[in-house]
Amino acid sequence: ETAQRLTRLAELVRDVPDFPEPGVLFRDITPVLADAEALTVVATELAALVGDADLVAGVEARGFLIGSAAAVVAGVGVVPVRKAGKLPRVAASRSYALEYGEATLELPDGVVAPGTRVFVVDDVLATGGTAAATCALLADVGATVTGFGTLVELAALGGRAALADTEVHALLTY
Ligand code: AMP
Repeated sequence: ETAQRLTRLAELVRDVPDFPEPGVLFRDITPVLADAEALTVVATELAALVGDADLVAGVEARGFLIGSAAAVVAGVGVVPVRKAGKLPRVAASRSYALEYGEATLELPDGVVAPGTRVFVVDDVLATGGTAAATCALLADVGATVTGFGTLVELAALGGRAALADTEVHALLTY
């Protein structure tokens, strides 16, 4: 039954070639979000992985959506991990390499106390740079990362290796 639900999810993930640049196959989860049953499956499956964590961290921007859904089902709160410049008060900031250039993620001040157990959620795990930076931000404020959950893992891009110290869970693996 779970296998059937995951097959339905896989059918809803839309492959968009050459976005955002030539050669990249973009995995668009928008149709999953717009489907009531699929969104419930994602929220429920991720919530089961939250376990005894105190908080979910959702990574901008699609991680906000599925991270919040999972947090509500799990009965915990959610903290947004944001792209640089969006937060009025920043607890920690981490820059990491992208295929072209660099990106910076920030954690808001005052919402993740030292010792908090945090489960990290994003939509797609590719090279793992984004997820690794998020885990580093949480470590910076003294939180413990209990695991990382994603809707889609692009296994060939090696994200798991970049997250060697973190348990990685993917609902769909390509
Ligand atoms: P990475 O840091 O390489 O693991 O990239 C993960 C982040 O970039 C996630 O926040 C994804 O939303 C986005 N991303 C990277 N590659 C893709 C892809 N092929 N399709 C959709 N989103 C992607």
